[in-house]
Amino acid sequence: MSPPSPSVRGVTIALDVEEIRSHFPILHRILPNGKPLVYFDNAATSQKPLVVIDAMSDFYKQYHANAHRANHTLADESTAALESARDRIATFFGTNENQMIYTGSATEAMNLVAYGWARYNLEEGDVVVTTEMEHHANIVPWQELSKERGIELRFVPIDTDKFTLDYDAMEVAIQGASLVCVGHVSNVLGVRNEIERVIEMAHSEGARVALDSAQGAPHERINFDELGADFCSIAAHKMAGPTGIGCLLVRPEALSEMGPFLTGGSIVKRVSKEDTLFQDGYAMFETGTPRMAEAIGWHAAVDWLEENIDFDEAHEHVHGIASWMASEMREIPGITVFGNPEMEEAIGVVSFLHDTIQAQDLGYLLDAGGFAVRTGHHCAQPLMEAMGVGSTNRASVWFYNTMEEAEAFVSHLRNVVERFS
Ligand code: PMP
Repeated sequence: MSPPSPSVRGVTIALDVEEIRSHFPILHRILPNGKPLVYFDNAATSQKPLVVIDAMSDFYKQYHANAHRANHTLADESTAALESARDRIATFFGTNENQMIYTGSATEAMNLVAYGWARYNLEEGDVVVTTEMEHHANIVPWQELSKERGIELRFVPIDTDKFTLDYDAMEVAIQGASLVCVGHVSNVLGVRNEIERVIEMAHSEGARVALDSAQGAPHERINFDELGADFCSIAAHKMAGPTGIGCLLVRPEALSEMGPFLTGGSIVKRVSKEDTLFQDGYAMFETGTPRMAEAIGWHAAVDWLEENIDFDEAHEHVHGIASWMASEMREIPGITVFGNPEMEEAIGVVSFLHDTIQAQDLGYLLDAGGFAVRTGHHCAQPLMEAMGVGSTNRASVWFYNTMEEAEAFVSHLRNVVERFS
């Protein structure tokens, strides 16, 4: 029988965090002001284990060449690495390489749904449903398409008491819709939406579903084929991988309805002066020189995650720390915590605001103590509006954060508030 997991202030520490942290060089950084870094800005972007940095560096040092274009050794090696990464990453997300399109980001993946699918399948009067809780990446492409095509855009509100989606309103909004675009996990509230329920509701109306899993993928293993969504957008940089790459997972039926988005080289079978014959499947969408170093880095990241992280234990750890922080922060005079990080399904995000210290100022004051948090509207202005604020501070936790960091953060925040309010 394994010994019980240790607990700090009632929070169960299920992970060997010191071992995990030893893989991340940046987490040992001392800032110019002499403070050790405490990185609580994981929802903006996660840090990278050394194996990811080394895999990318090795590519540039040893076998960098343009993939899919030549017959020399380096080109063969880089093509093989790009394609083996596709296979590995798709498998990690519970699907196969034919259902995955590399993109530059989660934002680009959502644009690919808008311009590669909706533009070919929706016409004036068709309905797209999104929600008030979304990141701008899951709002602005729909607004633009709506202007271009006369598509009706419906917003599902949030329940401002519970800080969840209003599922009754969702049920109504979905009536007659062609596409439902919903976030998997809110980047502001950390709430995990009931995506399985939304997929079922949408499919029963005959609508396609696009999930924005930019914040879901770092916290839970996605089994895309089982989940049944038609599209799912993911960003590598939020899950230990490099910046500059993400993907869109697509079900075969939805893929067969798509047409080209960005056009040019790499995605064609033949080009004449008059016309172009495009490649099939995912190859129709990966225009230009492939994201080789980024794919290789992402491959290393998913290998590392699989070897080192049990996602259920990580959830318990992250949730334990974030909910402890939220409950302590609610006790600090003048601090409001938005959302409900204590809720079992919530994922490591504590958005907060002080009633007299401006969010920007609080960001600087926290930085002075070594604490990196995000400040601003988090690219979710409709949600900010629904909550009646312009911006918040946001501390976001990942599996490499410790209870000691959380305690130091709460104590620093308490001191700052005492001194400056
Ligand atoms: N959706 C959500 C929920 C996000 O949090 C983010 C990143 N903040 C994005 C989409 C966009 O991701 P990227 O910046 O990598 O395109």
